[in-house]
Amino acid sequence: MSETIFSKIIRREIPAQIVHEDELTMAFHDINPKAPVHILIIPKKEIPTLADVKEEDLHLITHIHQVAQHLAQANHLEGWKIQVNVGEKGGQEVFHLHYHLLGWPEN
Ligand code: 5GP
Repeated sequence: MSETIFSKIIRREIPAQIVHEDELTMAFHDINPKAPVHILIIPKKEIPTLADVKEEDLHLITHIHQVAQHLAQANHLEGWKIQVNVGEKGGQEVFHLHYHLLGWPEN
């Protein structure tokens, strides 16, 4: 698989507003936000799409959900949703698995 712009963000070769990092994941603000809070949560492992997730990757998926909960709390989100686009027909533009966290803060 050829790497994407997200690998460059992980290596900090291009800038991003990083809001979370641990050994398995990174989260940063989407460059083109579609909600008041729009954060992308990605595994550091280069997995192209959700359809490519293998059993040995499932701990990453669990962990991404934990990061989403943490970021929702940290950003005082009253409402939020997770979106994963899969494949070009599913609206995916960057082929490095990512979870969109779209959120609306408390007033
Ligand atoms: P997809 O359509 O693949 O599900 O979502 C890709 C997302 O990545 C889009 O919402 C787009 O705005 C965001 N994006 C693309 N390039 C960059 C970038 O260089 N930096 C950041 N922070 N977000 C990006």
